Amino acid sequence: MMNWKTHPSYDGHEDVVAVGDEALGFAGIVAIHSTALGPSGGGVRIWNYAREDDALTDALRLSRGMTYKNAMAELPMGGGKTVIYKMGPDRTACFEKFGEQVDALGGRYVAAEDVGATVNDMRAIARKTAYVSGIPKEGGQAGGDPSPWTSLGVYLSVKSVLGGSVAGRTIAVQGTGAVGFGLCKLLAEDGAKLIVADVNAKNLERAVALGGQAVDVDRIHTVSADLFSPCALGAGLNARTIPELGAPIVCGAANNQLEVEEDGARLQARGIIYAPDYVVNAGGIISVSAEYIGESEAAVDARVRAIAPRLMKVLETAKAQNVTPHQAADAIVRERLAAARKA
Ligand code: NAD
Repeated sequence: MMNWKTHPSYDGHEDVVAVGDEALGFAGIVAIHSTALGPSGGGVRIWNYAREDDALTDALRLSRGMTYKNAMAELPMGGGKTVIYKMGPDRTACFEKFGEQVDALGGRYVAAEDVGATVNDMRAIARKTAYVSGIPKEGGQAGGDPSPWTSLGVYLSVKSVLGGSVAGRTIAVQGTGAVGFGLCKLLAEDGAKLIVADVNAKNLERAVALGGQAVDVDRIHTVSADLFSPCALGAGLNARTIPELGAPIVCGAANNQLEVEEDGARLQARGIIYAPDYVVNAGGIISVSAEYIGESEAAVDARVRAIAPRLMKVLETAKAQNVTPHQAADAIVRERLAAARKA
């Protein structure tokens, strides 16, 4: 693997490890950003990248993001991420092998689902290591697919930034996958008007069945709405899209929504309120973390319900200090990490 310590996305990462197996035909990267607050937790993303460097960039950025997300959510976990950029034909065998490789990391990294990975994949990993989460449990124990919890956290955040109610409000949802569709369901039940877009026709259709108005994927961020909710992939807020945004508030699930740091200032300059992604989308990792440490579903529910009040506090702090919301959030996290390192 290329030298990650000189990579532009390197940010003091503790370790970056190549995983995979040539005979099985799979390859990936585990990035461990920080274990200051606990084992590094973060999902397994399966994606096709044009170049191996793009996969490394994603692993570095996403693992750092997990450190910030977990610290912000007050979880006893650090930040890590796996990116699998090549999947072999025998998926189960690949994930079992990957389980062995996660085990060899000795608990510095705990795997779970992210884009492209399923509960079955986690079960295959679990046959080889205990350092995995995201597997359904019984008897009120936390566990299983984390995305409904992410949807709930996003929904409650959307509701809060809109002043406590979504009834009659128009929400533009970009990406109606696991989280986006769950969000659409909660919003529709509450009387919101939905505008939706997805590159996957099947995923789009089920959101349309909820009453959502479908628009082109290239236009969803431009439609006139009360709130724009990015729930597809990252970097959707950038120099090209920000001038075109049709809503005064952005609040969604996608990781790394700002393409570059300055995009936060670009949003601010347009008077658009940006709910920092990692504050809003912590529901899934809250469930994953609770499962790993053996908490109950009730504890997960309580932690997820703390997201929206936390978001409002971050937005207030940003306003009071005249900084962007993500700068305010980052400052809170850095303080927490520094305190943990000192302790
Ligand atoms: P998913 O794969 O189920 O859904 C993503 C959806 O986005 C898919 O339907 C896909 O077709 C669609 N999409 C891709 N490119 C698009 C485009 N250009 N325009 C419109 N739609 C597009 O994934 P998910 O689990 O719902 O996650 C969505 C986002 O939320 C990701 O950024 C993920 O990292 C983030 N997130 C997910 C969780 C979780 O619990 N699953 C937790 C935190 C953050």
